[in-house]
Amino acid sequence: MSPRKEGDIRLFALPALLLGLLLFFAGLLYWQMAAFQQGIRHETLSSIQEESELLRSLMTPLLAEHRLQEARRICDTFTRDSLRLTLIREDGTVVADSTRHDPEALDNHLLRQEVQRALQGTPELVTRKSESTGIWMTYYATRLQVPGGETYILRTAVSTDRTARLLHLARRIFWGTVALGAAAVTLLTLYVLRRLYHPLRKLQESMDGIASGRLDTPIPVPDKGIVRRIARNVQEMTEQLRTQLREMQQMEEFRKDFISNVSHEIKTPLTSIIVAAETLQESPELPRENFDRLVNLMCTQAHRLNRLVQDILALSSLEHRQKEQRRDFLPVSLREVAQEALEECREEANRQACRLSLEVPERLQILGDPQLLSQAIGNLLHNALKYSGSQSITITASQTGNMARLACIDHGCGIPREHWPRIFERFYRVSKERSRSLGGTGLGLAIVKHIAQLHQGTVEIDETPGGGTTFRLILPLAQKG
Ligand code: ADP
Repeated sequence: MSPRKEGDIRLFALPALLLGLLLFFAGLLYWQMAAFQQGIRHETLSSIQEESELLRSLMTPLLAEHRLQEARRICDTFTRDSLRLTLIREDGTVVADSTRHDPEALDNHLLRQEVQRALQGTPELVTRKSESTGIWMTYYATRLQVPGGETYILRTAVSTDRTARLLHLARRIFWGTVALGAAAVTLLTLYVLRRLYHPLRKLQESMDGIASGRLDTPIPVPDKGIVRRIARNVQEMTEQLRTQLREMQQMEEFRKDFISNVSHEIKTPLTSIIVAAETLQESPELPRENFDRLVNLMCTQAHRLNRLVQDILALSSLEHRQKEQRRDFLPVSLREVAQEALEECREEANRQACRLSLEVPERLQILGDPQLLSQAIGNLLHNALKYSGSQSITITASQTGNMARLACIDHGCGIPREHWPRIFERFYRVSKERSRSLGGTGLGLAIVKHIAQLHQGTVEIDETPGGGTTFRLILPLAQKG
């Protein structure tokens, strides 16, 4: 049997078990009731037979002498609340009846079942509703043969009304219980079908779809019932799976893009270097001026390659640290790291007659890597010097809540807003040619973003009021104490 079929069957095991138990107990109860009824019949029969024998011995001599009045009186004497005696002739006419003073008025009793049985010589207990009194009675009749005379039927009847009612009630309770049990089992089966079996089946079908790679297969979630939670969990898990797959696909795209970008970035300077080197090799008599030009070109391109490799290594190491959650950080003074980055750019700034200023309060401290923070601020400063054409660049910092906001503000050409959403992507440049000619690798801002993320912070771009660009690093401050 397939595991699925086996599972299906198991789901119905409980209702089947309950049905089995119900049938078992119903059978047991029925058997008990029948045994009880049988017991009562037995009791009744032996007591009636005893009384009949006694009566027979008393009545026979009286009837032989036709002393009917006395026979009637005996009938009356023997009568108790629950006992009725009737003396019937062979032709069915009633001679005496303990419940009536006018037995002649009673109808002919010849066809009464018990009378018939007595006449046939096979007396038997007969329980039925009395036609004369309307209550449940158990009758027993025997032949009374008067020696040399007539044949009479002596009938004894006891009221079994209470027992009959009791049994009737017991039977009603029994059938009621059976009906209730059957209804409960039916309801349970319906519940299992509606709330468990069908939703689980549908869920199984969806999961088969997902397992076969159709991740967009919808997961049916029932409105209620315990399957709802399972379906919701499966839905969430599938959603996570979809997201992970999407992320993996994006990563794959990203990786391909990155490799093609890197190859391109490497190929251009490398080709220049090879061409220049070959030219030098093939033409040793090159005029000094051309020789210098080619050597300079080789130098510039080699530096460009070096910067590219450095930046790629920096990015990869940052990613590594982020993935491994490695944050061996120290308390760092923002002012100190900003000062350090500023000093590194001082020479370049002087060459461009650009004024650098620092407005960072000393108290701002964050937990971080001073070298990386200085690199991030340095990248922003270098970019401002390289691209903005601003006459002054300021590094400011302030505190908002438990975050430090460090800004690199220039008043230069600015970056058009349409570039903002992609400006922190690897190899994204506003102007490729300008970036390349200025020695940019297209990785500077991507490195800044990664450094910010490693410090659990972010970086954002803004417009400087009055023109220019402001890059803002938002980093969590070191908790005091
Ligand atoms: P690159 O290596 O090209 O400098 P970045 O990622 O550092 O790469 O910068 C991406 C692009 O953003 C640069 O090519 C440049 O066009 C632009 N950019 C960055 N900073 C500024 C700035 N302060 N002013 C104007 N343009 C800028």
